[in-house]
Amino acid sequence: MSKVSVMEPDLANKIAAGEVVEKTASVVKELVENAIDAQATDIKIELVDSGVKQIIVTDDGVGMDSDDAVLCFSRHATSKLKNLDDLFNIESLGFRGEALPSIASVSHTILETNNADIGTEVVVDGGTIVSVKKSDCKKGTKITVKNLFYNTPVRLKYLKNLYIELANIVEYVDKMALSYPNIRFNLINNDKNLLSTDGSGNLLKVISRIYGVDVAKKMIAIDGSNSDYKITGFISYPEKARSNRNSMTTFVNNRLIRNNDLNRVITDSYHTYIPVSKFPIVVLNIEVDPILIDINIHPTKMDIKFSKMDSLKELLRDLIIEKLEHRNLIPTLESKDKKNKNTLTDLLELEKNELIREETISEESNNYDEMEEISFDFDVEDETPLYDPNVEIAPKKERIKKMYPVGLVHGTYIVAENEDGMYLIDQHAAAERINYEKYLKEMGTHDDHVQDLLIPLKIELSNSDYLILKEKMDRLRDLNFEVEDFGINTILVRSHPYWLPEYALEEAIRKIIDIVISEKDFDPYKFTEKIAITLACKMSIKANDHLELPAMEDLLERLRNTENPFTCPHGRPTIITYSKYELEKLFMRSMER
Ligand code: ZN
Ligand code: ZN
Repeated sequence: MSKVSVMEPDLANKIAAGEVVEKTASVVKELVENAIDAQATDIKIELVDSGVKQIIVTDDGVGMDSDDAVLCFSRHATSKLKNLDDLFNIESLGFRGEALPSIASVSHTILETNNADIGTEVVVDGGTIVSVKKSDCKKGTKITVKNLFYNTPVRLKYLKNLYIELANIVEYVDKMALSYPNIRFNLINNDKNLLSTDGSGNLLKVISRIYGVDVAKKMIAIDGSNSDYKITGFISYPEKARSNRNSMTTFVNNRLIRNNDLNRVITDSYHTYIPVSKFPIVVLNIEVDPILIDINIHPTKMDIKFSKMDSLKELLRDLIIEKLEHRNLIPTLESKDKKNKNTLTDLLELEKNELIREETISEESNNYDEMEEISFDFDVEDETPLYDPNVEIAPKKERIKKMYPVGLVHGTYIVAENEDGMYLIDQHAAAERINYEKYLKEMGTHDDHVQDLLIPLKIELSNSDYLILKEKMDRLRDLNFEVEDFGINTILVRSHPYWLPEYALEEAIRKIIDIVISEKDFDPYKFTEKIAITLACKMSIKANDHLELPAMEDLLERLRNTENPFTCPHGRPTIITYSKYELEKLFMRSMER
């Protein structure tokens, strides 16, 4: 019986609206999805010049009989779907069906297919079937698409450069390989192998093929569910964060999606573990009853709506935070064996980064907290305490073992040791983490205890700042400042919240005023957060402030007992380590044994 059926007109019309084959990647996508739908376990994609000259996709799937081999080139024929309800069927990837005739109409296409019963070859030129004959090809389907857009020079012109076309294809095949670890994928361009997976079903192996062994070693397995959703997959250690969202891969019932809300939940869960401009590598599959999702009918099929989004967000957040909270996240320096870096893949990665940056630049411009300023412009008195000495050390988490300081290098990095290895601690980042958590906590307690000033502090502002601040004095009052307008671009501070450091009072108040003046859409959480980060940075020991050993020991102890000792509030690492084992390896000590 023929497997190909003609689609109901209703569905065809709904889909046809957005249906265009415009890039080599969309051709590859269509052909690969056909192969997956044909239950292939082995899919080989061979390109010549990024697919512009030639694309061959070979699979070992069920193949077609000779009727279907011809019928699949006619409009509205699809073996995949018969009606709209099937779109929600998790088993089926494609629904376009139109794409094969579209592809054939702008190329020289050869279809060779064998359904284990009969082999057929169909040759199509610019949409016209020129020959149908028997073929002794092996079971499965092989489609060769040559000279894409040869008869539509305008579209050909709009293909971006070959590099970018290839980057798009690599990205797509990577995602499919992640989605189907049980399918063996091979991607080749001009005889260079760009990806090969073994189809063993081991997702971590696929991750190592795509991102490298170093990344795969730093991935954490995720597995959890609630009454609506089940989430499985891997998330990366913060140190492996990337500069774009490209490596955040989310599947819903194995279907690749992109959902900004979910991406935000993921990056928010890494809050302060990584810088705001960086993104973790994640590969997550969300299993859900199709009744709870609404797939936007669009050829890219990327967008999806969840009817119980809060339940999903909560599960995802809890899973990630739970994992991050119970790990030793200190980046380990390792002696590198000769790296078998695939330079082309690395270059493509760069190229991809550029593309994504273009896409996301507008989205990122409204980040409320900028990356840390590297220069520290205001002078702190030498006797600046590292942190408020009244805060008790309360050991709770102890995610890292006690470290013993031995000295300071470059006036910046504390060298420390314990039985496990050697550590370098950035003294500023460490103090900043301690202070940040302190300020957040104190602002969060809503303690209205204030410190009166014997002599009120006069703060002079520029004319424009003064005018803005006058409108926003309540923000300061909400923080427990007693302030009044003193006229002539000046405000008077009579008392301040108790948690404000006495030793750099005016600087601290000016920083807070700057935040009040510059914030646009007031969000109480972000507002407090920003104050905590800014004060923590400004009030912490700087590079070249020389600490004595006891002070270092105290700093390390306090760091150890923070909620997250591994990164400063800007997401920079506080500690890196050489394990004892690595040191022995580097000095080749085993030689003398
Ligand atoms: Zn800082
Ligand atoms: Zn920092």
